Amino acid sequence: METKRVIIKDAAYPRDEELMEAAQVLRGGGLVAFPTETVYGLGGNGLDEDAAEKIYRAKGRPSDNPLILHIAAMEELEPLVEDIPEGARRLAARFWPGPLTMIFPKSKIVPYGTTGGLDTVAVRMPADPTARRLIALAGVPVAAPSANTSGRPSPTTADHVWQDMEGKIDLLVDGGPVGIGLESTIVDVSGPVPAILRPGAITREMVEEVLGTVEVDPAVAGPMAEGTAPKAPGMKYKHYAPKGELTLVRLKEETVRELRRPGSTLYVQVQSALAAFGMSLGRPFAQLDLESFYMARKVDEAARQMEQTGASVGVICTDETMAVYKTCLKRSIGKRAQADTVAHNLYGVLREMDDLGVQYIYSESFAQDHLGFAVMNRLDKAAGHRILAV
Ligand code: AMP
Ligand code: MG
Repeated sequence: METKRVIIKDAAYPRDEELMEAAQVLRGGGLVAFPTETVYGLGGNGLDEDAAEKIYRAKGRPSDNPLILHIAAMEELEPLVEDIPEGARRLAARFWPGPLTMIFPKSKIVPYGTTGGLDTVAVRMPADPTARRLIALAGVPVAAPSANTSGRPSPTTADHVWQDMEGKIDLLVDGGPVGIGLESTIVDVSGPVPAILRPGAITREMVEEVLGTVEVDPAVAGPMAEGTAPKAPGMKYKHYAPKGELTLVRLKEETVRELRRPGSTLYVQVQSALAAFGMSLGRPFAQLDLESFYMARKVDEAARQMEQTGASVGVICTDETMAVYKTCLKRSIGKRAQADTVAHNLYGVLREMDDLGVQYIYSESFAQDHLGFAVMNRLDKAAGHRILAV
């Protein structure tokens, strides 16, 4: 199949003429990849089982992993669901359109082919103007998982989509790079207690502000115990992963404690190493705290050890820590002090490591609050939970 690429001149103000053909393809049962504020989506008519089947095939995705339906207006939610709980209405009022997906009991018109056989359906109203206008023009709920080959990092640029989907889909709407760079937050509102099944840019703190406390599905935190199933079926697959073997380097709690205790042996040692490092640069090096400096040193150590075996090794660091590394191949993922830059660059850097043929990747880790919770969730999954605690 030949894939057509339609470039949107100004993605903030897409013109209907630019989206008409894509809308037609969706209505006719074909596949269209398009930008959203989270990642690029691979869209098909969500009420058409055959279109869903095509999506699974193009992605190579297991068919028990359900799709998210995307809508353009609140009235479009009602026909898709059995019930809209009060909490869901409040979340929608606050965060829709936006990077929040909610799980509802499904109505009869939603085929099991799009819900992976579940009696629930995931729905989101994206904020991206191109996505939203396209969905409105299509006039159907658009089932759209991330537009990557299953298991690869999600696409945050049209080129990423092209790499994975060229020849497999009808059309790519090229709206430039996405804004957020991580998939939507998923909140299950179908049960008695709302639960976060996948963290994202709508953070736990933000959801709790609206709902009071929410649960976090245990699958989000780490590897599932044998025999238990995560509530979001997709979370059980090795996800977001680069081809190289990724190791996430984290500080042990006791290390953090020591580094925060002036006068401890470790504190004194790392403090003087940081001062010496600053001197070696010939300028004061004020932008690094002890913890980040220590972590960067440890990541560098592990990477260089692996380099000595002759393997090709890459490091994922940050703007602040970049200068600490002696490792050859290093890529900054963003600013440690600005989690949104890290979220935005994460998948692009993982894909770049693939393009460079890197066999082993070592990454710094991040604080787990707010957006950092979602970043660490994706890094942890990409690493297959391979963690080096230092
Ligand atoms: P993606 O489309 O790649 O962002 O993945 C969609 C995610 O939503 C996967 O992790 C799915 O398992 C999850 N999901 C979709 N529908 C449901 C549902 N009805 N119940 C629970 N999780 C869902
Ligand atoms: Mg995905």
